Amino acid sequence: MYQEVHTENITARAHAPEVAELLRRFAVHARAEGGAPYEAFAAELMPIFGYDLMVLAPTSDGDYLYTHYGREIIRYVGGNRLGERVSGMTPQVARFTIACCDQALADGKPAYTVHRSLKTVRVCLWERLVMPTTAENGDRFLIIFSRPLQFREELLTTVLDTSPSGIVALRAIRDDDGNIERTLIITANRRAALIAGHGDAPLLDTDARESLPFLADILIWRRCLYAIELRRGDLIETSFTRDGKVTWLQIAIAPLGDGLVLTLTDVSDLTVANQTLQSRAATLALEIGRERATRRALSEEIGHREEREQELRRLAETDPLTALLNRRSFTEKANAAIAACDLSDGDTSLVMVDLDHFKSVNDSHGHGAGDAVIRAFADLLLGSVRADHDLVGRFGGEEFAIFLPCADLATASKKAQRIQDALATRSLPVSETLALTVSASFGIATRRPGETLTHFIERADRALYRAKNDGRNCIRIAEAEIAVAA
Ligand code: GH3
Ligand code: MG
Ligand code: MG
Repeated sequence: MYQEVHTENITARAHAPEVAELLRRFAVHARAEGGAPYEAFAAELMPIFGYDLMVLAPTSDGDYLYTHYGREIIRYVGGNRLGERVSGMTPQVARFTIACCDQALADGKPAYTVHRSLKTVRVCLWERLVMPTTAENGDRFLIIFSRPLQFREELLTTVLDTSPSGIVALRAIRDDDGNIERTLIITANRRAALIAGHGDAPLLDTDARESLPFLADILIWRRCLYAIELRRGDLIETSFTRDGKVTWLQIAIAPLGDGLVLTLTDVSDLTVANQTLQSRAATLALEIGRERATRRALSEEIGHREEREQELRRLAETDPLTALLNRRSFTEKANAAIAACDLSDGDTSLVMVDLDHFKSVNDSHGHGAGDAVIRAFADLLLGSVRADHDLVGRFGGEEFAIFLPCADLATASKKAQRIQDALATRSLPVSETLALTVSASFGIATRRPGETLTHFIERADRALYRAKNDGRNCIRIAEAEIAVAA
């Protein structure tokens, strides 16, 4: 059991202001040894402090009798002990009380004590001022000031006053059948009154549904009733509008007796900030979506454009009849290949080919047949070269050029020979019913170091011219190479 006994610094330790006053009066009356004279001291104190006093008289068997028991003490304890013995109390409290009284009588000085009550529910700690006295006939009496320490209630009041949340306690008022008719506000702090829009007007003893605007919402009211009936806590978020201003509340509900405690937290700022954030996030997501769609459309458009450009480039580079390189792109690509070959220091050869007596093909079979022969011959040329290295171009009419990088004269001659042999052994398809055999003349040159493409082509061309002059259907090699070969 908690207990304290002090004989020094009593005024500083005591909670009740009456203690200091009693000590002062005791000092005025006190004589050496026996304390204050009982009759005079009791007569002075009783009218002023009597409700908080008890008087104990020692018995011959080491116990004490209550000869006075103040009304306030009766109220807190819940019974009157007048005429009873101290030993009838809870043993621990009785032992403590007897010891304190014994000491005060022995010292002739007041003692200040604090002890924990074990029975009374409302009060947890009592403070006492035990004052020894002696009657005229020599009998001893203890006049004891006894007051509960209102600690819990003070604590509660402090918590309520300083809480940033609104706190409201409700008590259920029930009809004869036990149904809740209404709820009364039995406690409310200032913050609760402010949140409810009552300013400083008291909420106490008012009908909770009339005083607290958020309870007008039938759903919230029902949840409060459930919480009372089921004695179960709950947490609600709600809003209400007053004077055009929206207040967002978080309401924590806790059952208390036959009622509730509501803890109200104003989360308006938080909720508005949250809503703003959410709407910004939505706008942002929308913008990101739009941006993505735009980017996708753009990249599709770029893709289409690239395809079109590629197609245009292909068309610009190729001969429409044969799909071979046209003269311009052949020249570009051959120049690029020459630059690459210069770096690798290999031979480069060029074969110029012209179909023989082609005019007569047109004359005999028509221009369409002539086109078919040109196409078929182009295919034959393409099939005779390395697709990833060699270039085949149509220079005009029935004249073609084959550019052979990294090929010496012997390789180029072999290639020309193979084409000539193919023409000799295979006729070219013109239609389903017609195939024609044609021959061609070939002029070959191998590039000299540093020679321009134009000059290189001219030399191969001159060799071709010689082939024509020598009766056609033959291969001629440019003069320089003949000289070197000789
Ligand atoms: P040679 O052996 O001397 O080369 O005699 P050739 O008849 O082949 O030469 P020439 O230069 O006299 O005539 C070429 C002919 O090729 C003239 C032209 O009508 C024909 N020709 C040119 N381009 C085309 C074409 O695209 N399609 C067709 N069908 N004929 C063409
Ligand atoms: Mg010709
Ligand atoms: Mg020609």
